Parts: sequence; C-alpha cells; structure tokens
Amino acid sequence: MSANAVEITDLKKVYSASGKTGKETQALKGVSLTIPQGEFFALLGPNGAGKSTLISILSGLTGKSSGTVKVNGLSIDEHPDEIKKFIGLVPQEFNFSIFEKVIDIVLDQAGYYGISRAEAMPVAEKLLQDLGLWEKRNEKSQALSGGMKRRLMIARGLIHQPKIILLDEPTAGVDVELRRGMWEFLNRVNGEGTTIVLTTHYLEEAEQLSRHIAIINKGVVAVDEGTKELLAKNPGKKLEDIFLEIIDASKESNV
Ligand code: ADP
Ligand code: MG
Repeated sequence: MSANAVEITDLKKVYSASGKTGKETQALKGVSLTIPQGEFFALLGPNGAGKSTLISILSGLTGKSSGTVKVNGLSIDEHPDEIKKFIGLVPQEFNFSIFEKVIDIVLDQAGYYGISRAEAMPVAEKLLQDLGLWEKRNEKSQALSGGMKRRLMIARGLIHQPKIILLDEPTAGVDVELRRGMWEFLNRVNGEGTTIVLTTHYLEEAEQLSRHIAIINKGVVAVDEGTKELLAKNPGKKLEDIFLEIIDASKESNV
C-alpha cells in the first residue's frame, strides 16, 4: 500500500472549560505530521505537551476540534470504523478489569473487532508467550506486577494484528532489564512491518528504538526529523541534551 500510515494536517484540539479553573485548554495548536508505513516513530514531549491527546484522536477515542487526520489514506471523519481495525492502542493508564483473567482480557478485546475467541486464541498464545505472560494466563490481572500489566496492555493492543500500533508510555515504571526485553519485542513487531508510534519519557529508549523523532511542546511540533539526522546535527549531544534545550528555549520565549 502506498498511502502513508498516518497523515495529520493542522490538527487542533481544544478541551472545553471544566472544573474549577473554568478555562479551556488548547492541547494541540496546529500539529502536522506524516508517518510512512513501517516507521518506528517516537513522539516525545514534556508532561502536558499533548502526546496522549494526539494518540487518543488517532485511535478514535477523542474527537478533534479541527484539521485533518488520515490513516492508511482514509479520513478519520469518513471511515472511523475501518480505521479502528488498522490501529492498536496501548493507553497510558491501565484500563482492564483487575478481576478478569489475563487470557480473557486479551480474548475479549478480540471480540470488539468481531474476531471469535477460537480464532483469536493462537494469536493470543503467541503474544502472551513472546511477552512472558503465557504462564500467567489463568491468573486474575490483579496478581500481576506493574511490568506484567504493561505487557498485558501490549498483548491486548495487538490481538487484532493491527497495521499501526500506538504505544503511550508502555515502559513507564518498568525496570531496565524488562524494558530491554520489551525493546526487543517492539523491534521484532516493527521488523514484521507494523508501524509503531511510541511515546516515552525515557529518551535513551527513543534514541535506541526510533528511526524518526517528533518533539511536541505545548501543543506545537518543535522537532520532526530522522533520529540519526537529529543526532548528527548536534554532535556530541545525547537526545536528552537536545530535548532539554528545546524545552528551555520555549520557556524563555514565552515569558
Ligand atoms: P501529555 O500526554 O503530553 O502529557 P496530554 O495530551 O495528556 O499531554 O495533555 C495535554 C493538555 O490537555 C494538558 O494541559 C492537559 O491538562 C489537557 N487535557 C488532557 N486531557 C484533558 C481532558 N480530558 N479534559 C481537559 N483537559 C485535558
Ligand atoms: Mg500522556
């Protein structure tokens, strides 16, 4: 397929006024990004930058205020249901039932896409094996460690074998050794052709895994560049240094 995996043009999102502050929030202020098929794309930015908002809009969970979003060449306004089948979402917050068994959490998700349990079972087995959760399949999810819960979220997000997977801080709170295991897993999934969009606070992780980096800050794209090119332009600097310079510069220009 020749269409880009994702094409976002001048995307804006305003959350209406709520609660005590009584002020609306402009979470995205005209974001344009193109993500080719098969990319490993890191979406970075400080807390409140708008990363999760962008991911929720792409996955159809949140409506946009204006702008256009296309997934595999299809407009999100015209083909929301088809797009949901292309996309796998691994949200930032755990949102499964702690009383449900691991295997049921994964198989029930398949049901949302019209895939029967019998059809989904081999895919679930492979995912749970690869993520080190197969032995835990009959346990309630409350019995899992934090790192296992993260991996369960990944298995659930991939059960319908999406073309694009959106991972919102999938390694938050996961220790270094397990994180490396997750990196290998994500590299393998990407190697099989799945487009990956990853948000993370671990800049080393983005540097290791991604081929393209976008940094958003206060709802605006500050960097949109190949990972190698970005590092080559800033010799001797780590991604973390580059990131902090961009965030600091925007603070100064805003006072
Ligand atoms: P990030 O994931 O980069 O930390 P978010 O997309 O979660 O950023 O948030 C961007 C901005 O939008 C923040 O100012 C946040 O407080 C606000 N925001 C996010 N979700 C909501 C919501 N449901 N209602 C109101 N404001 C929101
Ligand atoms: Mg977030």
